[in-house]
Amino acid sequence: MEKKEKSPAQTLKEQLFRKNEHFDLRFDADETAKADTFCEGYKAFLNAAKTERECAAWIVRRAEKAGFSAFDPEKTYAPGDKVYCANRGKAVILCVFGRQSVKNGVRIVASHIDSPRLDLKPTPLYESEEIAYFKTHYYGGIRKYQWVTIPLSLHGVFVKKNGETVTVRLGEEPGEPQFVVTDLLPHLAAEQSKRTLSEGIKGEELNILIGSRPFKSDEDSELVKLNILKLLSEKYGVTEDDFISAELELVPAFEARDIGFDRSLIGAYGHDDRVCAYPALEALLATELPEQTALTVLTDKEEIGSDGNTGLNSAYLRDFITDLALQAGVPVHRVLGRSTCLSADVNACFDPTFPQVHDKLNAAFLNHGAVITKYTGARGKSGSSDAHAEFLGWVRAALDSENVCWQIGELGKVDEGGGGTVAMYIANMNVDVVDLGVPVLSMHAPFELVAKNDVYSTFRACKAYFSFEK
Ligand code: MN
Ligand code: MN
Repeated sequence: MEKKEKSPAQTLKEQLFRKNEHFDLRFDADETAKADTFCEGYKAFLNAAKTERECAAWIVRRAEKAGFSAFDPEKTYAPGDKVYCANRGKAVILCVFGRQSVKNGVRIVASHIDSPRLDLKPTPLYESEEIAYFKTHYYGGIRKYQWVTIPLSLHGVFVKKNGETVTVRLGEEPGEPQFVVTDLLPHLAAEQSKRTLSEGIKGEELNILIGSRPFKSDEDSELVKLNILKLLSEKYGVTEDDFISAELELVPAFEARDIGFDRSLIGAYGHDDRVCAYPALEALLATELPEQTALTVLTDKEEIGSDGNTGLNSAYLRDFITDLALQAGVPVHRVLGRSTCLSADVNACFDPTFPQVHDKLNAAFLNHGAVITKYTGARGKSGSSDAHAEFLGWVRAALDSENVCWQIGELGKVDEGGGGTVAMYIANMNVDVVDLGVPVLSMHAPFELVAKNDVYSTFRACKAYFSFEK
């Protein structure tokens, strides 16, 4: 058949319109296969590391295998050297020294490894009507009704008075017991059903069922609780007092699974923000000798506002860069003023079932690649770092130089809601920053969804950012 000639309008459109294509239509099957392969590694990470502590430990192990060593502020480093700096077992900075002195600034990719979950209260254990429970205090922005009647696993640590740390991870391996929050049966939920969705399950109703068999003895009270403590004492060597210096988290016990007949998606707990942390890490590991010194920061506490000394509203990143500046013989503010950052965090993905919350012109779509978010915040961009046009121009050039699949997106319609990332805390150090990450469906739900193509595109975006020579 004869090839039809393009109309003048078609030709002009090709020149002037922005292209925003599905990854699979833009690239050949090889590229899709690469995305699938990359995501096999990501799924293994998801299953192995579900909490900030598990992620930090996993990342350090991965980095050491890749030739990174613990940072020594007294040592002098050469271009190509690879170091990491762990912060209290909950956050990690990784660094590959560049050809240029850090005087000329550093390039940072920052993402977070904490996810919404149910934390145990300091005095969690109680018995009611011969059933034992844990009281919880939720962490991060959860929709509470989503966390009932799903299998949960227990992760974290007890720290005893003698300084010994006992690690807990229960409910992940086949055959291990799991935990659950109960809900009413529909037959008796007439009153509860009148509650608003946000009050459908209340914070104090997120109680974890943990057992129902009593310690066998003569008449006494709280025998089910006693039996639980006996089991905990045998397994972990702890008493009720040890919960006071514990950090125990309940997270969905699901493992990461391919979703859809075409396996194009991954369903998992805690994509936000491990889905950016993993590409940010892998991109740095794939960076051998960058022009500017390259840093990946995998931080804690983003889900509760980045406060706390393992979060990016603390000094720990600045302190690390200060050590680099001291070595280079310049004050740290000179380094920071010439530095840039990709705040690698997720954004909302357009959901055709709920189109009303998005402006389609400015929403992120599944399979359209890494999403750049110029600003977050709420109402009139309140609580946001609005990226400078100059920096965005540079980022576009970096991504396009490697033919990365990316899109631009906003977090929902104006006045529909809002949110924030670590970008503003980075910007407050006088570093140029913009958000870039993976679009997520059902964000903050116990089982979130992402497209494999978008995870891989985020890896390629971070890699292009580190290696762009301009
Ligand atoms: Mn996030
Ligand atoms: Mn989040």
